[in-house]
Amino acid sequence: MKQFQIEYSTLEMFTKNLTTFKDWCHSNKISKMMFQIYSEILEPDPINAICKTIEQIFPDAPYMGCSTSGNIVNCQLSSSVTIICTIFELPQSQFKIFQYDLSKQSVDAITKQIVEETKANIWVKAIEMYFTIPETSTTRFCDGMKDIAPDIQIFGGVSCSNDITSDASCVFSKIGGFSDKSIIILFYGGEDFYVESIKVTGWKPLGRKFHVTKSNGSILQELDGIPAYDVYNKYLNIKNDENFFYNTLEFPLFYEHNNTTILRTPVASNADGSITMSSDIDVGSVVRISYGDPATIIENIEEDSKKIYTFQPDLLHIFSCAARRTFWTSQEPTYELMPFKEMSPSVGFFSHGEFLRTTGDLNQHNVTLVIAAMREGVKKPCVAAPAVTNTHQLSKVPLVSRLATFISVTSLELENINNQLEQVNDKLKVASIIDGLTGLYNRKEIQTQIERELSNVKQERFSIIMLDIDNFKQVNDTYGHQQGDAVIIALAKILHNERTLLNNRTLFSEKFSAGRWGGEEFMLLMRDTDFSSAAFAAELIRQCFANTNFPNVRPQTISIGVTQAKEDDTIDTLCSRVDDALYQAKKGGKNRVVVV
Ligand code: GH3
Ligand code: MG
Ligand code: MG
Repeated sequence: MKQFQIEYSTLEMFTKNLTTFKDWCHSNKISKMMFQIYSEILEPDPINAICKTIEQIFPDAPYMGCSTSGNIVNCQLSSSVTIICTIFELPQSQFKIFQYDLSKQSVDAITKQIVEETKANIWVKAIEMYFTIPETSTTRFCDGMKDIAPDIQIFGGVSCSNDITSDASCVFSKIGGFSDKSIIILFYGGEDFYVESIKVTGWKPLGRKFHVTKSNGSILQELDGIPAYDVYNKYLNIKNDENFFYNTLEFPLFYEHNNTTILRTPVASNADGSITMSSDIDVGSVVRISYGDPATIIENIEEDSKKIYTFQPDLLHIFSCAARRTFWTSQEPTYELMPFKEMSPSVGFFSHGEFLRTTGDLNQHNVTLVIAAMREGVKKPCVAAPAVTNTHQLSKVPLVSRLATFISVTSLELENINNQLEQVNDKLKVASIIDGLTGLYNRKEIQTQIERELSNVKQERFSIIMLDIDNFKQVNDTYGHQQGDAVIIALAKILHNERTLLNNRTLFSEKFSAGRWGGEEFMLLMRDTDFSSAAFAAELIRQCFANTNFPNVRPQTISIGVTQAKEDDTIDTLCSRVDDALYQAKKGGKNRVVVV
């Protein structure tokens, strides 16, 4: 692949340059080509005039373009109207341009057609997309692209205008004409066509995490239950004024989505304390404020550029967020692209959003640099190594970045301590309600559960079962305390299994609880169960325990009392009734169930 820039300053000069280029193409027998037009001018008339000129001089060549917030050629800011011709050198390489009108078709209908087109054109290896600034989020569009074969790479950008806060944008192509509401799709592929696409942000997390507790599409309403704007105000002292957008630009939100990290910038703060973000942020996701540190950004880009260098591209397509341009105020807007500069020719623009497919999912990013490297045929060894940026001039502003690191590390440490405390707290919570020897609920918890149940309206279907091991003192006296413990544990296991079994039957609803009432006495609570089932369960437990063999102790028996709650029961009347039932079972000869 080769890339040529056709100089544009006036239409007349462009016509002349394009004619000279045509002669050159003719003498070099070049036929497979396309034109890309990046324009900071939004008006249809000048754009249409350029398009018409291309059509007149190159009647067979397809073209496409979009409005931008600045154009990039060979990693440097280019003229306000930039016209690039891409030449495909191998006969087997293919490309195709589509344009879909968002005012005439639904997003779903469009993605369906794109998916179908990829199936019909099996040579496709990469899809490049140009979106006009969407009215709603692009999430639905991105999700609709899931059905595209996973090995096809997808990347692109949202067109933009010089006013980064404006919603005005356009795309245009030979097939669809000028439009302020369309998507342009480019297919690239063929047997010897190769693509590698990456994203780099370089922004780093700053401070603690927040949970998105309320949001509606791109309107971020609450973080950790407080209005989203309050977070920016409290932690960064950003005022709700006309500079809100510029002040928050340095501090976008990082959030995890589709297994990748996405940046979102606040676009405007609203009267109700919500913030309009550059695109969707889902409820339930975790976000962090992030901070753009110049030296770290450059370091990240240098590291990631190595991957592109190894790929040995013929050319690069660059989609860089307009916010990044605004960010590099003290440097050239393309300063951070230095590592890619000598690698290969490149073209791109400052966009309103960047697209990249990673691990099968297409996402719209913000404040991100998306680089798509393309190559026809085998790697050509002559690509220059990535240029290394002189970063000491950046480390002249270390205080802010060092403070940012300090805050981040401190917050992470606090977060870790908090996580550990939460875990310990969970363990303590468990320990406070569980009996240490048997793992069943302890007496206090069983009492709490009985009281809770008695305060319920539907208490008639609540039964309790009290169990006591017969002649247990003899077990201790004959075999020792340790063997006695083993018998207690064996009974607890039966109760635990019974409880699990019963709860399983009712789809894990915690209808049944088992607890240790004291010594070798146990209590089983059965909610929402009729009395006969409780009596039946008691009898099963009795039989099961009587048939249990212990390694060192002869078989043992239990006595059981069963009773059902009445409307006027208190915990005392209920427990004394079940105790009475148990006493009767003991008096009646033990190893039996007495129902009261
Ligand atoms: P009964 O049939 O009337 O219940 O006779 P029993 O011998 O079982 O009498 P009782 O229930 O009053 O005896 C409880 C005995 O249980 C007394 C105590 O030594 C023993 N015990 C209580 N807690 C534990 C324990 O945690 N481990 C062991 N090994 N023994 C315990
Ligand atoms: Mg006993
Ligand atoms: Mg006892």
